[in-house]
Amino acid sequence: MAEYKKHKNDNKEAGLPVRPETAVRKTDTLVYALGGLGEVGKNMYCYEHENEICIVDCGVLFPGDELLGIDYVIPDYHHLIRQDKKRKILVITHGHEDHIGGIPFLLRQVNIDAIYAPRFAKALIQKKLAEHKGLEKTKIIEIDSDYRIRTKYFTVGFFDTIHSIPDSLGVLITTPNGSIVHTGDFKFDLTPVGRNADYQKMAYIGALKPTLLMSDSTNAGVEDFSISEKDVSREIMGIMRNAKHRMIIATFASNVYRVGQIIEAALATGRKVAVFGRSMENVVDIARKMG
Ligand SMILES: [Zn+2]
Repeated sequence: MAEYKKHKNDNKEAGLPVRPETAVRKTDTLVYALGGLGEVGKNMYCYEHENEICIVDCGVLFPGDELLGIDYVIPDYHHLIRQDKKRKILVITHGHEDHIGGIPFLLRQVNIDAIYAPRFAKALIQKKLAEHKGLEKTKIIEIDSDYRIRTKYFTVGFFDTIHSIPDSLGVLITTPNGSIVHTGDFKFDLTPVGRNADYQKMAYIGALKPTLLMSDSTNAGVEDFSISEKDVSREIMGIMRNAKHRMIIATFASNVYRVGQIIEAALATGRKVAVFGRSMENVVDIARKMG
């Protein structure tokens, strides 16, 4: 970490906005994002109270065409590096790269007590960390919607949501200044493929009147409903039945449910499946291991 020491409290020098320290009282709970606002990628949100920081998600952003030769764009972790005396936990809502891709880079610069991740995300993170020397033994605790994390100032609970990857969780964080609902990526689909969202728990949390809602999901600003995954599933099956020859299908590896539907339809229509591409192979491999 020595190489970062010289940046200590040098926001001004680094050209970053300088926050007047007096504006924050010791009893305040701070809420801020290091990435993920107004962009699709590098989601990373922090909830800070006194000497504790609860970080939710740690993603990368895939660079556009203008960033030739750049593999990932990651958030600026300097604020967390400067808070090296504070205890930090990292909570992961789901296993998409824009929520977990930054973890190896964060761990190299910032001390994290533990990573809490749902089952599928945990497997993806373990695979990722296995490729980074020295990080293989990072403590990752598996969580589900019944899990509770208790620190001195925070109680963190979870609720099931639907997303394109299995095991997606929304987060409820109780702080000394009220409660915060952090939805993670989600959609509403009354006939989903895979586990349903826990609407009852959401309604219950709503009835408790949380102080703050942090909600951000791709295309949330577009009116109307997205079509149900069950409809997509029927459509895929129909196409496979009618196609006489070999089929080539392109989809995002991150859309694990969609990949699963394609493979199931292929098996149901007596086809063999070949998977191409590094992330596609990774995801299929882990999905099979997870059942
Ligand atoms: Zn996602």
